[in-house]
Amino acid sequence: MTRTLRSALAAVLLPLILVLSSCDVSLELPNDTGSPSGSAGRAQPNASLEVVNDGHSRFDQEVKNAITDVQAFWRTNYPTISGGRPYPEVRGGIYSVDGADVSTALRQRNACLRQDPESAQNNAFYCTADDSVVYDRSPDHLVARLADKYGVFMITAVIAHEWAHVVQQRLGSFDSSSDAGSQPTIFTETQADCASGAFIHTAQQGRTAHVSVDQKQLESTLLGYLQVRDPPPVSVRQISHGNGFDRLSAMADGIANGVGYCFGEEFAQRQFTERPFTSDVDYLQRGNLPYAQIIDPTPDSPDQSSLQQVLNRFWTQAAASADKQWREVGVRQEDGDPSCSGKQASDFDYCPDGNVVTFTDSFARQAYNSLPDKRIDERTGKVTLVDDAPADYSLGMLFVYGWSMAVRAQLFGAATADRDALLAASCYSGAFTASINTGDTQSFQLSPPDMDEATSAVIKLVPSDQAYGAHDTTALQRIQQFTKGYFGGLPSC
Ligand SMILES: [Zn+2]
Repeated sequence: MTRTLRSALAAVLLPLILVLSSCDVSLELPNDTGSPSGSAGRAQPNASLEVVNDGHSRFDQEVKNAITDVQAFWRTNYPTISGGRPYPEVRGGIYSVDGADVSTALRQRNACLRQDPESAQNNAFYCTADDSVVYDRSPDHLVARLADKYGVFMITAVIAHEWAHVVQQRLGSFDSSSDAGSQPTIFTETQADCASGAFIHTAQQGRTAHVSVDQKQLESTLLGYLQVRDPPPVSVRQISHGNGFDRLSAMADGIANGVGYCFGEEFAQRQFTERPFTSDVDYLQRGNLPYAQIIDPTPDSPDQSSLQQVLNRFWTQAAASADKQWREVGVRQEDGDPSCSGKQASDFDYCPDGNVVTFTDSFARQAYNSLPDKRIDERTGKVTLVDDAPADYSLGMLFVYGWSMAVRAQLFGAATADRDALLAASCYSGAFTASINTGDTQSFQLSPPDMDEATSAVIKLVPSDQAYGAHDTTALQRIQQFTKGYFGGLPSC
């Protein structure tokens, strides 16, 4: 988040951000050998598929299982979006490579590797030049690291994304050169995420021969998919795949609505939230205000713009528009065990008695440092995944949800600790978030990384037992509600 001083605006920013390579690329991701083969749940046979330079590792096998099922999916579904034409098979082969060391033989054989052998590192991509698909199988690189941490179904989500590019190419909509007058890259990329979601739905229904996914694995996959977001851009040119919200909301829409939606009119109108930094101060802070400012409801600022004050203003207006009165919600940091109405409360909660959001310092600090992120060694390409990157708006979202629970209690006399409350609060929180993400120069604004931080909170922080609890909601449902509120505003909730 940022509290912008108008004089600090406008800037030429240093492009320090790591941008991953591209050669007709689709996804920035890598490979694994150590993770358990065959997703848990159904015991399914491994697929047999020809792969150039097959590493014959468990990781390679998971890729082959995914590709086989995804191709079967498109043989069935392609005609529904192509006017009845059958799916043209991939002609240029599938390549398994060690992204850190692409052999001369492979370079000679594949058009994209010939042009840019480095492009394979930490990546999986569709190569339009010879209609091939290349993936980095190195256990130290991105896709494998993701599979290790978030489960093997991550591999399937990535492969399904890549195959959407295969399909886009066949439909004439995938222009990776991005200089023609075709769709912007972020459109084709999020459309691929949507298509990946459509395939995931098929796997959820048990209609795949080699891969499967249960609810728990899907939760983990959605969190893992946050790791393939773009780094916050410093210029419009750096916008490529979408931020975490753009990507996850597209995937969630694909799961809910299928390929017809992803390749239809409605998706074509899609709005995106990824945007570059617009102030040097914000950039240098990486979009994060200090912890103390996030928890302080009355900071010493001339424009009275703490998050809590902005929340009270937003809900005062919303209540007034419904001829209701808003009682300003307070904040209380608990030194001992948090309590509400004489009962033990969680470490971050809304208490209707007293109309106050209560929290412990230790959990709030944990929330402030809770964003999944990746570090990539520039020399070796080795990837390290972390869970504790600073995220002021992940912590901020816990306050936003607290205020949303107050809406339930104050305006509707409804419960604040059940399934309906959490889903409604997700929608309200989306609407509020949109109101402070306009990118203009008003005094209190979200920063470019904040939509990632919000999405991370919706998936893993808000439903924590230490916060509001999951109450039988899924990450997918909360993302869908948050997205609905974000784009549709309060009337949609
Ligand atoms: Zn892609």
